[in-house]
Amino acid sequence: MSFRRKPNPNRNHPQYCPYCAGEDLYPDEETEFAWACQECARVFSVMFHGQNAPKHTPAQSLSTNDALRASLERSKAGSDDIAEDTGNAS
Ligand SMILES: [Zn+2]
Repeated sequence: MSFRRKPNPNRNHPQYCPYCAGEDLYPDEETEFAWACQECARVFSVMFHGQNAPKHTPAQSLSTNDALRASLERSKAGSDDIAEDTGNAS
């Protein structure tokens, strides 16, 4: 027989009491998320609900093959420009 319950993965661990900023906090039996402040005797809950999607997501970077291909095309186009320039100059 085990008296130890399974840990709650969604339980957060506050560093300070949100009411008095006290640091003497202990888990409370009120709920799975409750904390009891020993300095102001308040019981409060801290709960993680999830994460919102960001408003701006950066564009996905090219794969190594696509990046190499784009680089080779850029350098090829650049060498063509140089050849045309020398051709026009002479
Ligand atoms: Zn407090």
